[in-house]
Amino acid sequence: MKRFASILLFSTCIPLLCFSQYASFFSEGSLRFDLLLSGNATETRAAVFELKKESYYGGTVHKTIDPFNYGEFKVTVTDPVSNKRIYTRGFCTLFEEWQTTDEAYEMERGFFQTLTIPFPKNEVRVLFERRNKGGEFYTLVEMDVNPMEYGIVQSSIKNTKTHKIIDNGTKDECVDIVIIGDGYTQEEMVKFHEDVRRMSDYMFSQEPFATYKRKFNIWAVDAISEESGVSDPRKGIWKHTALKSSFNTLNSDRYLTSTHNFLIRDYAALVPYDQIYVIANTDKYGGGGIYNHFSLTSIDNPRSLPVFIHEFGHAFAGLGDEYYTSDVSYSDFFNLAIEPWQPNLTTLKDFDSKWKDMLAKSIPVPTPAQEKYFKEVGVFEGGGYVSKGIYRPWYDCRMKSNEATAFCPVCQRAIKNMILFLTDN
Ligand SMILES: [Zn+2]
Repeated sequence: MKRFASILLFSTCIPLLCFSQYASFFSEGSLRFDLLLSGNATETRAAVFELKKESYYGGTVHKTIDPFNYGEFKVTVTDPVSNKRIYTRGFCTLFEEWQTTDEAYEMERGFFQTLTIPFPKNEVRVLFERRNKGGEFYTLVEMDVNPMEYGIVQSSIKNTKTHKIIDNGTKDECVDIVIIGDGYTQEEMVKFHEDVRRMSDYMFSQEPFATYKRKFNIWAVDAISEESGVSDPRKGIWKHTALKSSFNTLNSDRYLTSTHNFLIRDYAALVPYDQIYVIANTDKYGGGGIYNHFSLTSIDNPRSLPVFIHEFGHAFAGLGDEYYTSDVSYSDFFNLAIEPWQPNLTTLKDFDSKWKDMLAKSIPVPTPAQEKYFKEVGVFEGGGYVSKGIYRPWYDCRMKSNEATAFCPVCQRAIKNMILFLTDN
């Protein structure tokens, strides 16, 4: 209920006031932070590699403060004159996933990380934070940014075609998803556009996207790869592609993603976007989605359609995995002593902040895995990669399996809340 109340608070914000806050502090475009995250299982360090100016800011100009409190990391922008918070967003990283692997207990590694904020008009203070094991944020980097600095890179990728595949309005009225292909050669651009259509058509046939399909724009960016397909290290296959996607991320065969997100952002920046989706031209099963980072999935596997929206559930609405039996690289991903921030998982430490309001009085907590409860919102034990101590809201949801028929009501509500946050004014 706490979370629901805060969403209401922001969605009833007087539009003129909210937009004037945006207009008084920000101008057209985005300021992108290219960061280097490094460390090991227990330590996180962050350093700024470069700042970039991008032509568009695709996010909402009506609400600058993030009401959700999702994500392992957070950026806060403050006006140093008034000391007022003028922008906040939560996000996640591949680095934090790597921190839960065995390798992170044996060595240090570094990862590229990017984040964009609306381009500031005047000097701003920017704070990057991450959560500790207890879920509290601590400071990683704090810096003053002068938008007039010559060091802010303004170059962009040239000679790349972009297409607005689905057009339902302006970037401020709609959720803009930019889809970039990887492993598509020049000759395969027609296939890329067909694949974008196929994925979009499927997504907008599924709830809650079907109900809100008029609130989405879909963009396609023609990133041209020298070779068709993507790298598959366990088979000794290495491809030279535009976005350097690869299977075997974090040493998990089916984990298909790209660690080169400076490159991905360079292509995405050619259009306004709220979310980035990379589709990889391969029929091998795989993908990944990270909250406010990007999603990536293979496109020609028989299970690509459900995987496409499952990964988007992570990246767009901060949904957690409701499965717990599959082979993943992570260990101790969640601290069972605290409530996770993911809206569709609970440790019952603070269930009031989750879907308790959607639970019928007759449903026992925890809910037994019996057929009579399979179509009820409940509290089923098992989720977030563990069979004990984490509970999920539905017996079999899109965030649990590819065989599920839909997102469960709790996941649908979380997606709906994010759509409304990004589009209502
Ligand atoms: Zn669900």
